[in-house]
Amino acid sequence: MNTIIRRQYQDLILKYSKHFNESDRHGSYLFAGPAHIGKEYIAKLFAKILICDQDISIDCDCKDCNDVESSLHGDVINIDIGGICDLTDSNHRNHSEDGSKKIRICQIKRIERLALLSPSRSKTKIFIINNLDLMTDESANALLKTLEDAPHSSVFLLLSNNLEQVAQTVQSRCHILNIAPINAKLLQNILVDNYAIGDIHAEDIVRLSRAKLNAANEFFNSEDSMNLFNQAVNDMEKIISFDSIKRLEYAEKFSIIFRKEPENFFQIVMHWEDWFRWHLYNANKLNCAPSFLAKYYDFEVKQIFYALQALLNVKNELKMNVNPLLSLEVFFLDLPQF
Ligand SMILES: [Zn+2]
Ligand SMILES: [Zn+2]
Repeated sequence: MNTIIRRQYQDLILKYSKHFNESDRHGSYLFAGPAHIGKEYIAKLFAKILICDQDISIDCDCKDCNDVESSLHGDVINIDIGGICDLTDSNHRNHSEDGSKKIRICQIKRIERLALLSPSRSKTKIFIINNLDLMTDESANALLKTLEDAPHSSVFLLLSNNLEQVAQTVQSRCHILNIAPINAKLLQNILVDNYAIGDIHAEDIVRLSRAKLNAANEFFNSEDSMNLFNQAVNDMEKIISFDSIKRLEYAEKFSIIFRKEPENFFQIVMHWEDWFRWHLYNANKLNCAPSFLAKYYDFEVKQIFYALQALLNVKNELKMNVNPLLSLEVFFLDLPQF
């Protein structure tokens, strides 16, 4: 699969590595595009080219490149939500208690300190920061200062699922690379070639993954993705059959999932959205669902719209950290009864 991402994005990567060399081997790059389309992989590929001493090639097999690939290179530092903090920073707290789901200022302080140190084995030290849009305001300000103060040897590769939520000041310090999803038909062909599967199977995976490369890949690499989908559909079928009291119990169950495994939670919500959308298309005699979707409910179109609106509301409320249990209770009670 990785060779496919490579083929797909190599021109872009080579163009920017040329740009990097021409701009005095210095700068910050912001990779922007929807979640699960392979930005992390593309950033890593870019990091390899910046670190590697060989000629520019995306297929290099040297020790540096292999270490970047397996996240073992001391000069390539990955930062994401919940990562290592600067324990001596005055902003640091015990985070197991504060429940924060953003990149914290004490993490940025650690980067600030490391960015001032020389690289240990290469000419360049690279910081790959994932989920840039999920950063507190104070973290964004600290990052901006770090980008401004860092020596030329420190390069920042910033990844964002939602460019609109990245502070304008940070954006203005970066070269922005827009990573577009590949088209659904192309992805289907890639899956057929790469996994030697039939057209229908490939099309099912494209639909389940909303045509996102990494998400599609996950369906082949582990059973978890398919299990999560089946469980999501199963849960929704139960919820719409429940009375109010049972729905409230379910709201509690899902508020715990939201708290403990937010990524899984939003994945489930996405599957519910798809499931209702497929019903909507089906009501209009359009088939956009995976071929194996066995059962369609006889919803009225306005019930489907109502459910989709309720999903949108609950998603927005949860992202704003409103009382999750209350939001989920309202959501489950709002769903049609079957
Ligand atoms: Zn190399
Ligand atoms: Zn901390």
